[in-house]
Amino acid sequence: MAAALDRGLERARQRMLTRHLAGRGIGDQRVIDAMAVVPRELFAPRGRAHEAYADRPLPIGMGQTISQPYMVARMAEALELSPGDRVLEVGTGSGYSAAVLGRLCTAVYTVERHTSLAEGARALLHKLGYDSVRVRYGDGSLGWPEHAPYDAIVVAAAGPGVPGSLRDQLGPGGRLVMPLGTGGGRQALVRERRSAMGGFSREELGSVRFVPLIGDEGWA
Ligand code: SAM
Repeated sequence: MAAALDRGLERARQRMLTRHLAGRGIGDQRVIDAMAVVPRELFAPRGRAHEAYADRPLPIGMGQTISQPYMVARMAEALELSPGDRVLEVGTGSGYSAAVLGRLCTAVYTVERHTSLAEGARALLHKLGYDSVRVRYGDGSLGWPEHAPYDAIVVAAAGPGVPGSLRDQLGPGGRLVMPLGTGGGRQALVRERRSAMGGFSREELGSVRFVPLIGDEGWA
């Protein structure tokens, strides 16, 4: 039974890498290699490990989701990470994307507004040895100023605009990737870059669908 699940998961993982990531245009081999080794089934909700590598988000409790693998890859790629980078993630959820980011850079600081999710992710990441990932419970729309500036910031929930606090915490040359828009309406994934002089430029990376960013600099 367990062996059959293992074989099924292995096939599903390969399908994710070739069909859902590389096949849909993810070209950063470091991102694909990271997602080849992070055991997504351990971050999936209890009893749904067999669905872990499917091309869709899964519920993780508190009305939240672990993002679709393609979206995790697309956002990680859009951050243009180098091994020495320090990254802030807003929206830890299950901790899966933090683990992926942890394999791509030197330190990840991730913030989650639901205590139970933050604690679950912290315990699992520790158990799996992701010691470069630090989890904090709180309002990530305000960032995590103690560890700023960051080389990259990723927000896994859609806000009304880019929070000023996050812009302030992005270092020169930094990239910030987040969805903007309402829950019911169209959301756009945007990337902002901070120039060496401190100005910001923005690109739209396409339409997406995320849970709302709830917080002081998100939705009420
Ligand atoms: N990256 C996660 C993963 O791999 O499982 C999935 C993130 S889920 C799509 C979005 C998360 O953002 C939810 O867990 C939600 O509670 C969280 N969130 C929403 N607003 C937040 C805020 N202001 N601060 C921190 N987390 C927030």
